[in-house]
Amino acid sequence: MTTGSLKIHSENLLPIIKKWLYSDRDIFVRELVSNACDAIQKVKILREREGYACSDDEFRIDLKIDKDSKTITFTDTGIGMDSQEVEKYISQLAFSGAEDFIKKYENKDEAESIIGHFGLGFYSAFMVADRVDIETLSYKEGAEPVSWTSDGSTEYQIDKGSREARGTQITLHINAENEEFLDEARLKEILKRYSLYLPTPIYLNDNKVNDVEPLWLKAPSDCSDEDYLKFYRHLNPMEPDPLFWIHLNVDYPFHLKGILYFPKMKKTYETQKNSIKLFCNRVFVTDQCQDLIPEFLTMLQGCIDSPDIPLNVSRSSLQMDRTVKQLASHISKKVSDRLNALYQSDREKFISCWEDVELIAKLGIVQDEKFYDRIKGCLVWKNLKDEWTTIEEYVERNTEIKEKIFYLTEEQLDSPFTQLYEDKGIEVLVSRCPIDSHVMGFLEGKLAPNRFMRIDGELNDALLDPSKENTVLDSDGKTEAGKLSQLIKEELNLEHVEVEAKSLASDALPAFLVIDENARRMREYMRISQMDASMMGPSQHKFVVNTNHSLISSIDAVKKKDSKLAKEIICQVYDLARLNQRELDTKDLKEFSNRMTQILQQLAEQVTV
Ligand code: ADP
Repeated sequence: MTTGSLKIHSENLLPIIKKWLYSDRDIFVRELVSNACDAIQKVKILREREGYACSDDEFRIDLKIDKDSKTITFTDTGIGMDSQEVEKYISQLAFSGAEDFIKKYENKDEAESIIGHFGLGFYSAFMVADRVDIETLSYKEGAEPVSWTSDGSTEYQIDKGSREARGTQITLHINAENEEFLDEARLKEILKRYSLYLPTPIYLNDNKVNDVEPLWLKAPSDCSDEDYLKFYRHLNPMEPDPLFWIHLNVDYPFHLKGILYFPKMKKTYETQKNSIKLFCNRVFVTDQCQDLIPEFLTMLQGCIDSPDIPLNVSRSSLQMDRTVKQLASHISKKVSDRLNALYQSDREKFISCWEDVELIAKLGIVQDEKFYDRIKGCLVWKNLKDEWTTIEEYVERNTEIKEKIFYLTEEQLDSPFTQLYEDKGIEVLVSRCPIDSHVMGFLEGKLAPNRFMRIDGELNDALLDPSKENTVLDSDGKTEAGKLSQLIKEELNLEHVEVEAKSLASDALPAFLVIDENARRMREYMRISQMDASMMGPSQHKFVVNTNHSLISSIDAVKKKDSKLAKEIICQVYDLARLNQRELDTKDLKEFSNRMTQILQQLAEQVTV
């Protein structure tokens, strides 16, 4: 037996590593299984290149839990090691690998998490074990078995071993704090997480764990739609089938393979995130890909596999990495190509998927200028007639409204207000995406002088009918409309409300509010960013009354007979306009309904008297 002392410089590797990896202790499984798999791959290479005799059924990795002795063993039929290799690779390399790892991170802030904790390898076994034993037999002819043991300190023992078959068995004597790993279900879950797609069969207590092929490694031409759907269902068993997908397959200037699925949309952006898994040569690394791919694409689902992503660097330095940047822009380009191709080849299908894809596409255009340039031709909007259009097509059709793009929000869909536009045949788009006001601001920068205008954002000339207007001046030099608006302003008696009487082309509505588009967007922005909108004071708006509606045109005559009733009608019409436009707050609702009751009572009395 030989005892050795390691030539490493940090005496206290273990405490530092334990602290670093506290939340990710389960990666020891990934590391040991990956080493076992590599050792088996090496045998396969020997067979290929040097005619080494072996058969495929030999290749397997076995994990066994022994609860009595509190051990987990990892056994492989890989190339094994002779005593010199154990010295070199385990005693020196594995420990110095761990030392390098902590040298890099010793003085860094703990919060700065590392993407994959790679680089620790074999040494990670000591995060959960008090002692680790190795029994190994090299593939080399006449090789002697070797045994090695260490408690993770700088001391180890190496001896003649007892292993009879080629390969390596590593036994972890699990310490008291980590007994959870002796639970079969727990270990199975970890294996499924990290090692599901390795090319060697893995058994846990004699049950095979991995039986799904990583579809992303196949050539796209060899995959059928059914293959993609099957793989998706395996990745996301509880979810409805995806809309479509992209198969990534790049060899230059970096290696990247993967499949990204466009899922059916969830209610909120947040729940949609973190559904892309990152692999490095089939080994799972993380599902926190937000530093690797553009933020808007984190809503996609699937897998990406690249050996070129630096995994033992901090997340913050990752975004500065050239390869990572190239990779992100490649993925973004592929996504826009896919959307464009679908739009060109099957507009109907594109539109049927649009409500699910919309948020991703819209976040994409505001976050990535190049993405906007590539997909601007297929940004579609639905109008009130349920037809789909691009903004360009809209602008071409609607010249009468002078550089305006009218839209309404989903909650305005049933508003009587839309009738004004319908009566005049003005096209109105429907905005139903939560980030539309942001998107509109962005698009206005691109499509100037065209401007988005909510249907109640202005009183467009196209809604008026000057032919019905009475322009005759009275003895005081006032028009009828001028007198009416003055009367209503006085009765309403509200400082922040401007009143205007207009001759509208439609008599569908007695009145409505014009709410300044900019001020409203500002309020909306404050609401979304959870700022206090009350700082902006009461909502400024213009109360427009329709002189061509009988209720309004008769108000002067009513006032002459019953001035109290006239006032009630004016207040009621004003509140109705607010109600229709979702501007009536709950405290005013009470007054509104009391007034309503009074008016109805009066009406009933008039009939019964
Ligand atoms: P890495 O795998 O990153 O090189 P490790 O610390 O995991 O670092 O392992 C160090 C070396 O020990 C490996 O490169 C390999 O040569 C050897 N090794 C580890 N595990 C095994 C195994 N199961 N069979 C054969 N060799 C192994």
